[in-house]
Amino acid sequence: MKEDFYDILGVSKNASAAEIKKAYRKKAIQYHPDKNPDDPKAEEMFKKAAEAYEVLSDPDKKARYDQFGHQAFEGGGFGGGGMNMDDIFSQFGDIFGSAFGGGGFGGFGGFGGGQRRVKGSNLRIRVKLTLDEIANGVDKKIKVKRKKVAPGTTYKTCPTCNGHGQVTKIQNTILGRMQTSATCGTCKGAGQTVDKAPSGADAHGMISQEETVSIKIPAGVVDGMQLKVSGKGNDAPGNGISGDLLVAIEELPHPHLQREGDNLHYDLYVSFSEAALGTSKEIETVTGKVRIKIDAGAQSGKILRLRNKGIPSINGYGTGDLLVHVNVWTPKTLTKEQREFFEKMRNDEHFEPKPEKEDKSFFEKVKDMFS
Ligand SMILES: [Zn+2]
Repeated sequence: MKEDFYDILGVSKNASAAEIKKAYRKKAIQYHPDKNPDDPKAEEMFKKAAEAYEVLSDPDKKARYDQFGHQAFEGGGFGGGGMNMDDIFSQFGDIFGSAFGGGGFGGFGGFGGGQRRVKGSNLRIRVKLTLDEIANGVDKKIKVKRKKVAPGTTYKTCPTCNGHGQVTKIQNTILGRMQTSATCGTCKGAGQTVDKAPSGADAHGMISQEETVSIKIPAGVVDGMQLKVSGKGNDAPGNGISGDLLVAIEELPHPHLQREGDNLHYDLYVSFSEAALGTSKEIETVTGKVRIKIDAGAQSGKILRLRNKGIPSINGYGTGDLLVHVNVWTPKTLTKEQREFFEKMRNDEHFEPKPEKEDKSFFEKVKDMFS
């Protein structure tokens, strides 16, 4: 059982945004890694508080959490869980501003050695998924070419900025002396320059290497959605932080099923005789085959709803349905005998359309379904 986010921060459910921020700041300072070096318990608490704050500080996520609890964020590699220290510092770094280093907090990882840590660039890939993979979730192994520090590369403190990554300039202007700081041109902010690098490495001591990355894709992803795999982008030179791998989802069309949000649609064709006599049909769904019964006297346009046979919601709101649209196939050619049969039936009272309330038109049914 996951701990309640309000309990973690020690605030009530009606706490204001300001109270939540204040409570988080208190916890973050209490469990800050600078104050608790090599204390895994403190680090755990620090991460928990950040995770709670990430949700409760965002009105949208907070509303979802208040309604659905932790379930609101299950199944996704984003949103709730899975924050690492770099995420915490890059997102909430400003909250420590006045407590650590008097406002001199330089973004992520800005404390400790007094050096700035640069982040490696992000990599972007596209992943094509079938509807079955989307419905069930899938682990994909994907080859990516990442920049890594070449074995044998050593770094030294940048002589221009003394490892700060920033250079300060004092200029005399008509308003007086002005101090400006800029990213160091020698090390591009890394605070380090290459000391020795093996042949084949670039100017930053890096090489490109193919690596197989395992990506856990949760069920219910949507075409165009982007997932983030932390730390699987390009590495940064020296003591920098690795960039992220951004995975864009592409949904492949299914031969028989159409997706509409979390619901799926399937067009079923039955013959004239099957519609009149009743039948049973096997239907392919994203979780295997199912057999459905078509009652005698079935009408074209009838919709059968197979509950929970659609796509699971990415936000944990349950699973969509499979809507089977019944289409009665009218023969396009007839033999002489068949023609005579239908001629005979032309004025038969059983063949005369007599729609009843339950034979509502397709559009009325759709309206009912979504109201
Ligand atoms: Zn420098």
